[in-house]
Amino acid sequence: MNSIQLKERINQLAPLASLLQPDFNTRKKQLSAISDYTEQFISSITNGKVVDFETRLNVDTESFQYSEAGIELIEALNQFDNEIVSPGLTTASSRFFGFIPGGGLFSGALGDYLAALTNKYAGNSFASPGASMCERSLVKWFANEVGYPDTAQGDLTSGGSIANLSAIVTAREVAGLKGRDFDRCVVYMTSITHHCVKKALKIAGMGDCTIRVIPVDDDYRMDPDELLLCIKNDKKEGLNPWFIVANGGTTDLGSIDPLEAISHIAQSENIWFHVDGAYGAAFVLCKAGKQRLAGIEQSDSMIVDPHKGLFLSYGTGMLIVADGANLFNTYQESAPYMQDLDTVNMTDNLPSSDLSPELSRHFRGMRLWLSLKLNGVAAFRAALEEKLLLAEYFHNRLAEIDGFDMGPYPQLSVAGFRYVPKSGDANKFNQRLRDELQQEGDIFLSSSTIKDYFILRFAVLSYDTHIDDVDFAIERILAKVDEIEKS
Ligand SMILES: *Cc1c(COP(=O)(O)O)cnc(C)c1O
Repeated sequence: MNSIQLKERINQLAPLASLLQPDFNTRKKQLSAISDYTEQFISSITNGKVVDFETRLNVDTESFQYSEAGIELIEALNQFDNEIVSPGLTTASSRFFGFIPGGGLFSGALGDYLAALTNKYAGNSFASPGASMCERSLVKWFANEVGYPDTAQGDLTSGGSIANLSAIVTAREVAGLKGRDFDRCVVYMTSITHHCVKKALKIAGMGDCTIRVIPVDDDYRMDPDELLLCIKNDKKEGLNPWFIVANGGTTDLGSIDPLEAISHIAQSENIWFHVDGAYGAAFVLCKAGKQRLAGIEQSDSMIVDPHKGLFLSYGTGMLIVADGANLFNTYQESAPYMQDLDTVNMTDNLPSSDLSPELSRHFRGMRLWLSLKLNGVAAFRAALEEKLLLAEYFHNRLAEIDGFDMGPYPQLSVAGFRYVPKSGDANKFNQRLRDELQQEGDIFLSSSTIKDYFILRFAVLSYDTHIDDVDFAIERILAKVDEIEKS
């Protein structure tokens, strides 16, 4: 094509391409429709069903087909509501007590909107000194709450699994381990350590390392004496004790490994000490949580999921490495097409691309930044203490009732329990209890199997869960137990 033909074709395309840019009135109308929809969503989750396993996806519908011409937002919102929001679990509900409840703070959603629309590039301070500083400062803020040294650096990740992976890669690089060393390396954890750690070892190339499962005590905490014994034995065998993962709150029961004792062992035996605080580490923000997590500040690295304990929406994790230089040395790379960046002094505002595997990334810091700004840190401290107390309240209330076999006293905001029926198999009874509660859909509880016991888990972590919701849940559980006992 010559220039005239090119211009003709370009002029033909421009009006069609401009459909990507709605005008002022369209934007206003769309924002208002979104706001109407979200208001209706927020008001419906308070007393609505938490589970809908009945509505089956009809994947032949238009909802998952993409036509050449667009549709109206109202129609798209209809599809979104019917096919995406309604089926499955309402994880943002105050009556969602399954797994580890997710968040969905309004302030976080607003932060996401601002981040997406301005699309500031948070990967380095050349592109956006403020966006980069925003993410660095959020990590520093949390590191400071934990009690980490000033040398700490970290990264906002998509979640805990990736944060754990990044910690493992960092520890591998710091130890200077090469492929030929991997099968001599030993990793220490407990039987209830999150499965993403094994996944991460595999991704890091270390699937062949030895995993030592250290026994737990009656409260499901790692036994430090057993840990030390194993390490000594492994050294004798010529193995390389390399990495300890302690739980800063297990997913199953919220149990916290004895972090202080483990840190002493890690120091004296010269082993990397990592704390998986994906679920629990946010509790350092309240006094009781900070006391229970004492020793976390002695770790070499730790993770926390703001999409759990800081009530944000999915896609917000955080890794912190006590000696930040270790993180930087693990990931720092350069390239000719990045040479413009070198002219800027970034030492006080390190690029996240030198602290993580990512280059282009979602500006995920904005959801946390706006949430801390608008609500203030005190609101988070109060909410977290409230959730701890709600789990204790639940535990105490059920413990007073005949037939309930309670798990260990909640160390964080998860209470494990089961009902032992007057006759018949307890595992079967509790399975049925879970299934029927889920079918009813007023509350959602998930289960686990510990030492061959089928247990139910009552996990409190939704920002919107208050005492009325816990009372309501207890009422539903008791009614259902009664119903099954009588059937
Ligand atoms: C949730 C969780 C993870 C995994 O985090 P994701 O954000 O889901 O990837 C890891 N460890 C623990 C203890 C968790 O509770």
